[in-house]
Amino acid sequence: MQNCAPTQTPDVDKRALREKYLLERDKRIRPDGQQQYLEADNDFAQFYEGDPHMPVEPREPITADIEVVILGGGFCGLIAAQRLQQAGVTDFRMIELGGDFGGVWYWNRYPGIQIDSDSYCYLPLLEETGYMPKEKFSHGDECFEHAQRIGKHFGLYDNAIFHTLIQSLQWDEDINRWQIRTNRGDEIRARFVVMAQGPYNRPKLPGIPGITEFKGHTFHTARWDFDYTGGDLHGGLDKISDKRIAVIGTGSSGIQAIPHLAKGAKHLTVFQRTPSYIFERANSTTDPEWVKSLEPGWRAARQRNFHNAAFSFYSPGEPDLICDGWTEVARNMAAKIEERGAWAELADPARFMELKEDEDYRAMERLRQRVEAVVEDPETAETLKAYYRNMCKRPVFNDDYLPTFNRDNVTLVDVSETKGVERITEKGIIVGGVEHEFDCIVFASGFEITTALDRQFDIKPFAGREGTSLYDHWGKGFRTLHGIMAHGFPNHFATGFIQGGVTASTTLMFEQQADHIAYIIKAAQERGATFVEPTSEAEEGWISTIRENTVDNSTFVSECTPGYYNSEGEPNGRSFLGEPFWGGFYELSDLLQAWRDTGELEGLVLDK
Ligand code: NAP
Repeated sequence: MQNCAPTQTPDVDKRALREKYLLERDKRIRPDGQQQYLEADNDFAQFYEGDPHMPVEPREPITADIEVVILGGGFCGLIAAQRLQQAGVTDFRMIELGGDFGGVWYWNRYPGIQIDSDSYCYLPLLEETGYMPKEKFSHGDECFEHAQRIGKHFGLYDNAIFHTLIQSLQWDEDINRWQIRTNRGDEIRARFVVMAQGPYNRPKLPGIPGITEFKGHTFHTARWDFDYTGGDLHGGLDKISDKRIAVIGTGSSGIQAIPHLAKGAKHLTVFQRTPSYIFERANSTTDPEWVKSLEPGWRAARQRNFHNAAFSFYSPGEPDLICDGWTEVARNMAAKIEERGAWAELADPARFMELKEDEDYRAMERLRQRVEAVVEDPETAETLKAYYRNMCKRPVFNDDYLPTFNRDNVTLVDVSETKGVERITEKGIIVGGVEHEFDCIVFASGFEITTALDRQFDIKPFAGREGTSLYDHWGKGFRTLHGIMAHGFPNHFATGFIQGGVTASTTLMFEQQADHIAYIIKAAQERGATFVEPTSEAEEGWISTIRENTVDNSTFVSECTPGYYNSEGEPNGRSFLGEPFWGGFYELSDLLQAWRDTGELEGLVLDK
């Protein structure tokens, strides 16, 4: 059993800091919100559709009738496939844009790529495949290999159609099947479709004036060009020693790649609009003695412990099994409550929020002091300090990033005053009226995560019964039964942050959803149904359940600096978490299990 000490955090002036946080937010809010980003299509299609890792082999179009199509071969798709198999549904195919399984771990191979959260919780199907991660924070190649391991272990390669992008999905009422068109000219009809596209499916680009004018080299972190840089995902970028490189973006991807670019390049210029909080990585190799001590079910217990830290609180005496930046605030809070013998205070939600906020301010101040301690130039250190609450943006873990700014060949350029890079030219980037020339611009500008759904899915048309577009059906907010099915979209199953339970490990959320999807598909098959669809009353019922259990976090969200988590600060933007069932992740598991246990498929219409 692991446990760790609370961190030492400084006293803070919360009121002054809050004002500073709001000022920093206001500086960055842009009127164009999500629209500031460009889609990876037309002039930018190569940022999405090309494959730098493996040649796309020509093949004949496929014409087929398939029982179940899973869209996506990342961890979500692999979990869905394994759960279908477990339920006895074997007639399925997985359609995947990449040349192998892995999803984000197939595409993202930029130097430095590493999991940013506990591998033992995040990597799926560990006990089932008999695999134990080598380190607490696995490197990207281990994640990709694990996706391949799952593919081999469950014999899923025979089910896969790689290098294929689903472009349209239309429900055909004459045959009660989905008509699927792909970028390979395929014409596939599927009884059921399971969307397992994951949240980080599609890269986006910053809509910087002049972006198409640049004559040098460019690429996105999600499609790293090792032919240009040399090296691999562990670094060693040996082809850029004469190159002046610019990076736009200092989120999780940028921060992992920047230390390697700095080591390889003649000069690296980092354009930063908003700094990230940089937690210590402090990675550790997996202790074989610890592994020997584990009992079956250890992983579920660990995931629950992680969930408590991130979305709830520790119970008296509960250890912190995760012991990293994700659990710091909860751990510090628990230690203080224990010291005061004040566990009863947690029963009051307002008091809980207050205590959590106190520890949040203190821990973030600790991280700002860490920047000062590591970065030698005081002005650069000041620019690298983040001013917003924990979880406004995705926390980042890195031990090499901050020291990179002590190197002579690295320049940090603050573009917060202009709300981003001002302009790109043929030769480089303009800041404050001055042109900086570059050989290469690396876009670490993120993904279509909370942009409009038609941008995120990029499936057009995406039409259910009577040609109704899913984008219209969900245009004013999600409408589902159990977060996975929608009225008017028979035999269609969604996954991800929609109207379901949220927990600290995304893959655990996928497991919860896949269990439910596999059950419904199997039940429909057993009953000889050609389609299964929620009634609009059932959909309304679920929306009411979601709203009755909601938590009002609008103040927290609106006070955050803009980013994809809060839809770039758009007042009515889509939250990264969708519209969750705040009644609790494990409570939702119980609720769904109880629904399945009745065997009545309540709220669903089945046609025979
Ligand atoms: P991101 O967090 O969306 O970061 C995009 C970056 O681009 C931000 O720093 C943003 O600045 C900057 N940017 C955008 N437009 C700009 C402009 N016009 N001028 C200057 N800067 C601009 O993308 P990401 O780093 O790829 O990460 C996305 C998500 O993927 C992460 O949050 C994480 O969930 C996941 N991820 C996970 C891992 C991991 O587990 N190891 C690794 C990588 C990614 P602002 O902050 O000011 O908007």
